[in-house]
Amino acid sequence: EAGINTVDPEIAHLLQTELGRQRSGLEMIASENFVPRAVLQAQGSVLTNKYAEGYPGRRYYGGCEYVDQVEELARSRARSLFDAEYANVQPHSGAQANAAIYQALAKPGDTILGLALDHGGHLTHGTTMNFSGRYYNAQTYTVNPDTFLIDPEIVRQRALETHPAVIIGGWSAYPRIEDFKALREIADEVGAKLWVDMAHFAGLVAAGLHPSPVPYADVVSSTAHKTLGGPRSGFIVAKKEYAKALNSAVFPGEQGGPLMHVVAAKAVAFKLAGTTAFKQRMERTLEGARIIAERLSAEDVSQAGISVLTGGTDVHLVMVDLRNSALNGRDAEDLLARIGITVNRNTVPFDPRPASVSSGLRIGTAALATRGFDTAEFEQVADLIAQTLTAGRDANIDSCKSKVDALAEQFPLYQGLDQVN
Ligand code: PLP
Repeated sequence: EAGINTVDPEIAHLLQTELGRQRSGLEMIASENFVPRAVLQAQGSVLTNKYAEGYPGRRYYGGCEYVDQVEELARSRARSLFDAEYANVQPHSGAQANAAIYQALAKPGDTILGLALDHGGHLTHGTTMNFSGRYYNAQTYTVNPDTFLIDPEIVRQRALETHPAVIIGGWSAYPRIEDFKALREIADEVGAKLWVDMAHFAGLVAAGLHPSPVPYADVVSSTAHKTLGGPRSGFIVAKKEYAKALNSAVFPGEQGGPLMHVVAAKAVAFKLAGTTAFKQRMERTLEGARIIAERLSAEDVSQAGISVLTGGTDVHLVMVDLRNSALNGRDAEDLLARIGITVNRNTVPFDPRPASVSSGLRIGTAALATRGFDTAEFEQVADLIAQTLTAGRDANIDSCKSKVDALAEQFPLYQGLDQVN
């Protein structure tokens, strides 16, 4: 049977060029990663053909004997990786996992309380342009204006004012560790449920390098594709008292048939996340972020009006503060793209610029650590970023770009892979 090169040369070409892009640049978008070959294989498998509405042993379709085993493996691996009583591996994405959690824990119109989007929260934590802000009475808490840290006293005050049914922990753009125990105490004080969205830091939790929200939260959602390094998708772990509500919220509440090829890929990713090699990779991820934060806190950088939010990082990302710099977030993002480093601009809390321009950059290290980067390479990358941002429009693009090219060549990606697995 004809393959994609024959059937659809246009798409085949685009797959090839995207592979080339991923190989040649340095990927520092904090929410991205490179999945292992085994994950690509599971995700590109014949399981894409199978309908499996329902749950293992209770399907609405025949022929589920093998996919039942796949889902059972994925669920039990998720439970053991995160030491959780319950897991649901069917959500197609992080946003859908979150939508299911709202269905399980709240009724439309109920009050929810999450970190404001422009302070590092996620769209699904109650922004007005998202379903979460339209169907629920979405209230927000902000970071502390002096420290830029999530401050339990601010969360508590907001919870006492707003009486939420659900308090949401977790973030998309925040460089520190939150105090889950304090959030639990606040939730108990106001009679709310606590849901933590660990999408960004799930890999660090799996590796034991970040406190786990699982003992404190009623429900924890995540994506599989950020630090965890699995396929693009979501999953939920929770206390078993929520099993029934969450199962029916995911299916039939939120979704139809699960993507069984993606469930298989999640199972592979959960297995790999339990290994020593994965833990070492997460250690390099954290070390890389620390190195970048330190370099971007040096004298030459601060003289250009550039600083690191909160003065450092505990996780896989660094938030760069450009409020006092001649460069705005968009210019800085473009400048780094020209030397071959992909990052994304981001608002910083209390940002004077509009979100489309913004005054921040979010720089992540997970993808480069997956590629094999260690201390020496992260030092080089940190220096290239520092030099480029400090020089601004006078940056020596050609010289920096050739150093980036050399680093990318030193750590080949998907060797031997030709566009599709
Ligand atoms: N939750 C958080 C904290 C995120 O950062 C993201 C992704 O950016 C999501 C949920 C949504 O995940 P997805 O893009 O898979 O819907």
